[in-house]
Amino acid sequence: MKVEALPVTKGDYNLQDYNQAYETFDWSQVEKEFSWYETGKVNAAYEAIDKHANSFRKNKVALYYRDGNRDEKYTYKEMKDLSNKAANVLKQADVEKGDRVFIFMPRSPELYFSVLGAIKLGAIVGPLFEAFMEGAVKDRLEDSDAKVLITTPELLQRVPVDELPALKHVILVGENITEEGPFLDFHKRLEEASKDLRIEWVERTDGLLLHYTSGSTGKPKGVLHVHNAMIQHYQTAKWVLDLKDDDVYWCTADPGWVTGTSYGIFGPWLVGASNVIIGGRFSPDTWYQALEDYGVTVWYSAPTAFRMLMGAGDDLVKKYDLSGLRHILSVGEPLNPEVVRWGVKVFNNRIHDTWWMTETGGQTICNYPCLEVKPGSMGKPIPGVKAAIVDDQGNELPPYRMGNLAIKKGWPSMMYTIWNNQEKYESYFMQGDWYVSGDSAYMDEEGYFWFQGRIDDVIMTAGERVGPFEVESKLVEHPAVAEAGVIGKPDPVRGEIIKAFIALRDGYTESDELIEDIRQFVKKGLAAHAAPREIEFRDKLPKTRSGKIMRRVLKAWELDLPTGDLSTMED
Ligand code: ATP
Ligand code: MG
Repeated sequence: MKVEALPVTKGDYNLQDYNQAYETFDWSQVEKEFSWYETGKVNAAYEAIDKHANSFRKNKVALYYRDGNRDEKYTYKEMKDLSNKAANVLKQADVEKGDRVFIFMPRSPELYFSVLGAIKLGAIVGPLFEAFMEGAVKDRLEDSDAKVLITTPELLQRVPVDELPALKHVILVGENITEEGPFLDFHKRLEEASKDLRIEWVERTDGLLLHYTSGSTGKPKGVLHVHNAMIQHYQTAKWVLDLKDDDVYWCTADPGWVTGTSYGIFGPWLVGASNVIIGGRFSPDTWYQALEDYGVTVWYSAPTAFRMLMGAGDDLVKKYDLSGLRHILSVGEPLNPEVVRWGVKVFNNRIHDTWWMTETGGQTICNYPCLEVKPGSMGKPIPGVKAAIVDDQGNELPPYRMGNLAIKKGWPSMMYTIWNNQEKYESYFMQGDWYVSGDSAYMDEEGYFWFQGRIDDVIMTAGERVGPFEVESKLVEHPAVAEAGVIGKPDPVRGEIIKAFIALRDGYTESDELIEDIRQFVKKGLAAHAAPREIEFRDKLPKTRSGKIMRRVLKAWELDLPTGDLSTMED
């Protein structure tokens, strides 16, 4: 297979450095950057904030925040003081090392003070996306036996406090709070709290974050990460995000999802960057305006957002001065080649795909800056990560064979366990030390990895294995197609046939001619056997709140099956 590769974006590290690192790099070299090298103990919040607050970065802006009428910024020193104060508020709610502290509120500086404050006490933070409804909130607080919840009076409506016996205190962030029963007033107590704190120094294997997964393939599971993960957050912030001291960085993910913590909190702050947080909902104007106003230089977002920006038209982006933008990255879903080419056209930048998941805790397979991008490929494993395509017995497969994307155990940010479900944790591993991701991919002869779909989504049609991603990517190249989700539909003759669900762009209406035109487009552009036999139009495709197409819901619609856990589905 021949694919055009785009030119490289320069980073601090050149290809030679990387190639050498593949041979010589060892994660223990990175540990020397952290306190445990000397004391044997560590705290990720100290490393992310206090260390810089006690250095030449003291008065550097750590956090820029904007949402509606709030427009604020905080230096590293201010972040240190405010997270210490938040920790002291949490102490008044009896938070101790190992307790689960859940945070359920919209992105705001208070959210970040609280996350850092809880970690400074050695607590395990469970971030919940603000759009969760009552059932989803209850499930997670119950499964984790959360002791303290920090939320807003508005979101409190969705918290069945009386049905959660383990929940001892609810800290409310808002106006005119009455302190009675389990309720405490965050702002009042924060104001009165001391900014002195004795940090809880922990072991590297002590809990840091409890993230429930996106729920694309089934019921979300509680993935526990420990302080050790910071080693990978730190190193990938340098290698992959390419962050330097004069960068202004914006990660668009909410901390309710792993990208919003690993690379919305730890990565950027561990390396001392300035971090932009924009609240509120997605809107092309707000987003472009934020890129321009803050002079964002490094930007980490997701395919669904890029596709929506693309849909907003190229005239819009031209109205903004985005000349400072030098490095763009993507995660969460396959990045269509079409989107990469669009990025080159409008941003004069390649969008760098990165592949990882809640369970891996940090980036694993990436297009790092000095690597040539092959549009449609996720890139290569970073040094210190060994990935391979294995068969169902755990044997490595040669290039171009589709199989299980697996990673050799031993990268620092690997999940520590699945909360309350050790059996599920163990089920990820094959032949002891292969972590099997659940994604299907192949590798080319240069070692680039190409995503094909979730293992369960791979389609077997007339004896051919077809990855849904390739078909979807071809479909979105068609001018009428805004989004596409592809599934295998059982068929007595062919085993499965390919069925596509399509949301059309504005200005197009469904017709038999259009269906035929789209089919021919895939047939000519990809392969005859990959062209959908059935096409169904929908106004919207079912997506998770983090923007992933839920193929299991498409399949359930098609087969009239129960749709399963929908707690993470968009409205
Ligand atoms: P659940 O595990 O609950 O079904 P999920 O897998 O969507 O949900 P996440 O951990 O947030 O939850 O997402 C990880 C998955 O996202 C990966 O397994 C992969 O399928 C997809 N993904 C992430 N990055 C990429 C990428 N660069 N290219 C293709 N797919 C990606
Ligand atoms: Mg998953």
